[in-house]
Amino acid sequence: MATQVPGWDTCGLCGSPMHSRGRRDKPRYVCPPPRGCGKVSIDRPALDDWAADAELITALDGHSEALDELNRSYFDTAELTYFEWTCTRDALLLATEQITSDAPELLPSGFPPGR
Ligand SMILES: [Zn+2]
Repeated sequence: MATQVPGWDTCGLCGSPMHSRGRRDKPRYVCPPPRGCGKVSIDRPALDDWAADAELITALDGHSEALDELNRSYFDTAELTYFEWTCTRDALLLATEQITSDAPELLPSGFPPGR
């Protein structure tokens, strides 16, 4: 459980930490009693895949918010020069491309602009 997605590594019923258990061919995350409720378990590879995608989506959301703020700083409040805006925008878009290079299915169509 190396991901940083908030809340995914605790039991949805009792809030106890989930633990990795199960056979080698069928690994699972479980909420083990007596500390946990013992009622919740989930396929470990499926949850790990979901968590990895969720981390990427969270990062992309952060880039989207940063791009919105950057555009406001240039177009609305004129706090940036054109050069500052283009350099920052290009660095942000490059970082987004690097994040999505391993998961192109996460990129919305038409993003980044010009592609
Ligand atoms: Zn539980």
